[in-house]
Amino acid sequence: MFNSQSFIEEVKSRSGQPIELCFQCQKCASGCYMARFTDHAPNQILRYIQLGLKEKALRSSMIWLCSSCEICGSRCPNGIKMFDVMDALKKIAISNNIVAEKKIRLFNDIFLDTVRSKGRIHEALMMAEYKLRTGDLFSDLDLGLKLFLKRKLPLIGKKVKDRKYLDVIFKRCFDMERKAFAKYQVRLDGGKLN
Ligand code: SF4
Ligand code: SF4
Repeated sequence: MFNSQSFIEEVKSRSGQPIELCFQCQKCASGCYMARFTDHAPNQILRYIQLGLKEKALRSSMIWLCSSCEICGSRCPNGIKMFDVMDALKKIAISNNIVAEKKIRLFNDIFLDTVRSKGRIHEALMMAEYKLRTGDLFSDLDLGLKLFLKRKLPLIGKKVKDRKYLDVIFKRCFDMERKAFAKYQVRLDGGKLN
């Protein structure tokens, strides 16, 4: 069993959003263009959090497919920004080893690794690694070729000059993450994270 109250508090704290104010008007869901592709709409995710239904919220594809477009936040009469809520849920899901959309998680990891090692995005390298690791070698090949021919997909990427600042930034972010989890998170089995 897990502590549902600590789950609500954790999501509130990590997202900075007044989750208890949601009264299910569904304005967020009606404006969300990703909701048609997901198992649950944004307002449903909020209801699960209010009810302490941690597994329902964490196992939803919505938290991975949210594109942070911010439409929901601009429509909500209570100013709730769902994208911050989705981001918080994603982090909690990862720490509980729950990943509803494994390819999106993998893409996210490759993206961050590229930024960490070069300080810049290198699309060709990123896509090559993603395709090798998913085994999905041939989809979008025509699109990649078009971008390459238009010189939008350079084979040799650039690096930032002073990489040491990157390490400092990443270390600070990891430390902040660790502190946030140590303070709030309770695992699904009820045990506290170390
Ligand atoms: S930020 Fe996410 S939840 Fe909100 S409207 Fe955009 S895709 Fe939907
Ligand atoms: S728009 Fe705001 S109040 Fe309405 S359902 Fe969505 S989050 Fe809740």
